[in-house]
Amino acid sequence: MPASPFLIIGAGIAGLWTALCAAPRPVVLLTGAKLGDNTSTGWAQGGVAAALGPDDTPSLHAEDTMSAGVKLVNKDAAHMLAKAGTAEVNALYDLGAPFERDEHGAWVLSREAAHGIARVARIKGDQAGAGILAVLIRAAKAAIHIEIREGWQAEALLPDAGDGCAGVLSRAPCGALHELVAEHTVLATGSLGGLYAVTTTPWSSQGQALAMAARLGAVIRDCEFIQFHPTAIDIGLDPSPLATEALRGEGAVLVDRKGVRFMADTHPLAELAPRDVVARAVHVQNQSGRGAFLDAREAVGEAFPDQFPAVFAACQSGGIDPRVACIPVTPAAHYHMGGVETDLNGATSAPGLWAVGECACNGLHGANRLASNSLLEGLVFGRRTANAVKAAAPRPVRPRIVQAPPILPDEALQTLRQALSRHAGVVRDMTGLKTLMSTLARMRAQHGDAPALIAAHFVALAGLERTESRGVHFRADHSEPHDQACPSRLTLTDLRNTGDTSHTGVAA
Ligand SMILES: Cc1cc2nc3c(=O)[nH]c(=O)nc-3n(C[C@H](O)[C@H](O)[C@H](O)COP(=O)(O)OP(=O)(O)OC[C@H]3O[C@@H](n4cnc5c(N)ncnc54)[C@H](O)[C@@H]3O)c2cc1C
Repeated sequence: MPASPFLIIGAGIAGLWTALCAAPRPVVLLTGAKLGDNTSTGWAQGGVAAALGPDDTPSLHAEDTMSAGVKLVNKDAAHMLAKAGTAEVNALYDLGAPFERDEHGAWVLSREAAHGIARVARIKGDQAGAGILAVLIRAAKAAIHIEIREGWQAEALLPDAGDGCAGVLSRAPCGALHELVAEHTVLATGSLGGLYAVTTTPWSSQGQALAMAARLGAVIRDCEFIQFHPTAIDIGLDPSPLATEALRGEGAVLVDRKGVRFMADTHPLAELAPRDVVARAVHVQNQSGRGAFLDAREAVGEAFPDQFPAVFAACQSGGIDPRVACIPVTPAAHYHMGGVETDLNGATSAPGLWAVGECACNGLHGANRLASNSLLEGLVFGRRTANAVKAAAPRPVRPRIVQAPPILPDEALQTLRQALSRHAGVVRDMTGLKTLMSTLARMRAQHGDAPALIAAHFVALAGLERTESRGVHFRADHSEPHDQACPSRLTLTDLRNTGDTSHTGVAA
């Protein structure tokens, strides 16, 4: 079978932008769902962070990014993101993304948590993701260099007889397995939020890239760092709809069931404190029975349906009118800072394998992502990855046969999701993480190396080995950070030797 030069798995912002930037090189783009479905991209509400305002600079943006990531951010990645970010948002605008501008043509920008300045470009209030995705899909469908295969689910990467990756084993819409041979394969499969019982991401986002890349020997980095959004709307839906942070930027406050604000006493920035701080406060409120609610009645009030149509619709589906009532909220798994380790051009440790977007980790976010930096990450590092693949030398490949991994039955998946939420959630400790490790070992013995179990195992082991609290990783039994910040790096071999934990590079 002839090798296609350039294969991309995933059609969110990262996969689509990489594909568009690859022109004129022919690209095959796979998405397991229908184009536009099952992406976090389409659900993004706040917008894209970039230094677009008159008082802002890329340096300020990079500094906020580094400060949010608690000493673990790769400085080069942060400066690269901030510097290239403005041009990328402008390119997206030029492509037709309807970002809000005022009557003088200036960007309308929101301020989100831990940003020192208003810097988030938005679309129709809370419609950023839907607006961006629609424009990207239109452009990709019109691009003659992109062949889109919808409903093609990547199951495993094809190992090369030499070294690295030789393409992907994919299940076609008819259910048949096909080997798609490629010189360069880019993973852009998004988050792992769907491994948690309470999540804001599509349930199908289950860390597929981690399992696929790890089977090929690639290094998985910083897997313990999962950002929990503090204000998922608690109306029993799975996934949980989101009440965007922009609401707090507009002045909405967090109150208990008696209407008493609780963030003002917790952090100087109150409701606009870093997400992990707000998420823990909301968690404590809910655990204590005092409850946590977002009160936007005064700050937004009657303007709610116009300013935040997606949040308004979600509230209405749960019988809540946010113009006159408070919104019950809970923390939910929202964003994965960790992922398949890459350099600043998207190259992983496996030759021929690249990763970009939320499934990748180049150290940009460190221990905590600055709000609205991830759509921008897809743009900036998508273009860099496309350029690097275009510049790479041709790579003759000789694919080896690989078996499709087992699929976790639905009942077991629900057990897994409950276990992760309980033991690797907003607050963790050694006992809980060890319980989780045992649960996972039992499940792997019963169900085999299903990708969801492997991805969850990386989270549990990295969390257990990080005996400190840093950013979103809060250990009740180790509440302070170590003096030195070190990334965590794990491979599949480490999971198999979970007794020996001395090799991972996590700070002692
Ligand atoms: C509710 C919500 C609101 C958010 N708001 C913001 C915001 O305002 N600003 C911001 O910057 N970030 C926001 N984020 C985060 C941001 O949306 C994501 O980090 C970003 O969109 C990830 O893009 P991606 O392309 O990496 O992944 P995704 O957009 O999730 O796309 C992944 C793609 O991979 C495909 N896929 C997955 N597995 C396979 C497989 N095995 N085979 C084939 N295809 C596969 C999926 O079908 C999909 O096409 C938000 C996230 C959520 C959930």
